[in-house]
Amino acid sequence: MPIRILATEVANQIAAGEVVERPASVVKELVENSLDAGATDIRVEVREGGRRLVRVQDDGCGIPAAEVELAFERHATSKIASADDLSHLTTLGFRGEALASIASVAQVTLLTRARAEEIGSLLRLAEGREISRESHGGPAGTVITVEHVFANVPARLKFLKQAATEAGHIQQIVTRFALAYPERRFNLVSDGKLLFQSTGSGKLVDVLVKVYGLEMARGMIDIGERESGRAGEDGDENHLDETLTHSPAHPFTHSQSIRVSGYVGAPALHRSHRGYITLFVNRRWFQDTSIAYAVIQAYHTLVPTGRYPVAVIFVEIDPAEVDVNVHPTKAEVRFRDSGAVFGAVQRAVRRALIDQAPVPQVSLGQEPTGDPAAFRPAQLSWDQMAGWSERRDALLGAGGREQEAGSRRQGAEADTQPTSFQLPASNLQSPVSNLQFPSLLPLLRVVGQLGATYVVCEGPDGMYLIDQHAAHERVLYEQFLAERAAQKLAIQPLLEPLVLDLNPEQAAVVADELATLGEMGIAIEPFGGSSYLVRSIPAILSKDNPQSALVEIIDGLAQGDDVVENSHEAALVTLICKRAAVKGGHVMSTAEMQELVRRLEACHSPRTCPHGRPTMIHLSATELARQFGRI
Ligand code: ADP
Ligand code: MG
Repeated sequence: MPIRILATEVANQIAAGEVVERPASVVKELVENSLDAGATDIRVEVREGGRRLVRVQDDGCGIPAAEVELAFERHATSKIASADDLSHLTTLGFRGEALASIASVAQVTLLTRARAEEIGSLLRLAEGREISRESHGGPAGTVITVEHVFANVPARLKFLKQAATEAGHIQQIVTRFALAYPERRFNLVSDGKLLFQSTGSGKLVDVLVKVYGLEMARGMIDIGERESGRAGEDGDENHLDETLTHSPAHPFTHSQSIRVSGYVGAPALHRSHRGYITLFVNRRWFQDTSIAYAVIQAYHTLVPTGRYPVAVIFVEIDPAEVDVNVHPTKAEVRFRDSGAVFGAVQRAVRRALIDQAPVPQVSLGQEPTGDPAAFRPAQLSWDQMAGWSERRDALLGAGGREQEAGSRRQGAEADTQPTSFQLPASNLQSPVSNLQFPSLLPLLRVVGQLGATYVVCEGPDGMYLIDQHAAHERVLYEQFLAERAAQKLAIQPLLEPLVLDLNPEQAAVVADELATLGEMGIAIEPFGGSSYLVRSIPAILSKDNPQSALVEIIDGLAQGDDVVENSHEAALVTLICKRAAVKGGHVMSTAEMQELVRRLEACHSPRTCPHGRPTMIHLSATELARQFGRI
């Protein structure tokens, strides 16, 4: 066959394949156009999962009568004029191919009136060709109706899923826009049923409640607005745990600032897949496994292995720093300095979590009320939280912590009689369902011990039950990391070197990890065959039987299923601390419990153990009063 140029319709249909994959893509393109047109009220209606009909109505600027046909030409756009404009895009569209593509695979009806014009236009197209055109009255704005999508592309039609599935994709698209544009009103009706609606209040929390439901939205933390600038400007973000997050260093290599805002789920809100991490750059939704990983990594030790956090993250960056023209659907973007974005996101999320992670609260019975007015995450602003942190740091730094602890100790001594509790364990709900809102760890007074496993404390608002093992793990973990960071890890030399006879699996792990073990204070060397000679251990293990402690730790390493999949070092620290921590079933003296609580209060992440499980649960004074029928 000789080479020839394809007819426009064929070329358009081929190109359409890239832009219009399914009815949800039609919705995405049309809503983007409405947003670019400045619409504040966007109504989406679909039938049969969008296959039968997709209609998007907006109150935007409309299309001038003289341009309605042009809008359907390929590469026809009002949004950019030159290649230069590509480097500072402020609109969602710019390729000028959506309408042409959609019109080539469906029947399209356009009704539009430009705000400045008296009379509007009604244009009908099928298979990309104009069928009719007339003047038509109507409100300013645009209504585009797309019917029988892919009717002329059987290959595509075959791949469409059930109507309900396609409607699900559409709902996902609309909710993402609603999250990115809380000040605009969205409405989605599917087969006559209202699937989604946002109020356009301008408050992201309102949209979160609509998208995720009140219960889940309650467990989300405002990360405020965090800005990252040049290297060195955010040195205060140097958190201990980051010594263990094995991302490559991400220095800021240029002066562009990156602003990160949004909401992240409290650690207890974890999910089984990454689908709950939603990312936007300059209000454009995008997909990026690396940036999603920055979020996941920020939850390091806070959520259990194999579980993923919930997050809605907005990155704002100079448009010149991000290329959105990587793919026709613009789902992927390319950052000029992706490392800087990675670092900014990771730090912002981590900081928010450390400052605001809530204590899981126990409710014996009733669910919290479903009143959206009771939803309060926005009440604590970043500034307020920062104020709290400063106060806490000041207390810690000035020895104020000691004073506080001292006065609490006195209080505790006055009240040390044993207390017995009958807690109906079966009524303890999942912490997820009752998250209390951000607070620093409250000042706690030790009341007693329960079942030789939990420390019972009184706080400003009711009772706190601390899991002594989990709490001690957290304390030791942070102490260990701090000592390592300061290169002051306490090491206990063994007077007599210990010979470890290992099985082949254990020996293989040790052979691989000699250096890492050494860094953690376990000086170990080959001693022939599968035997190893140990000359020192970390001091926190010094009260233990070194033989069994080391074998347990090595076995843990061999199983390799702890905390961060890619870091043996992190796994090793966790294992050492787990072994060294006081066990459940160990009777503690009041002084020991007070010491544990005092040290937990000084932790950066006191509310979870290094495995991400809660260290404490809270039974509020109100809940107690309710249980006793006092209110
Ligand atoms: P792009 O959005 O990339 O410019 P499209 O094919 O999606 O390309 O749209 C072509 C042009 O049609 C847009 O540049 C815009 O001028 C106009 N247009 C499309 N939809 C609307 C709308 N809802 N309101 C106003 N103008 C619109
Ligand atoms: Mg467009």
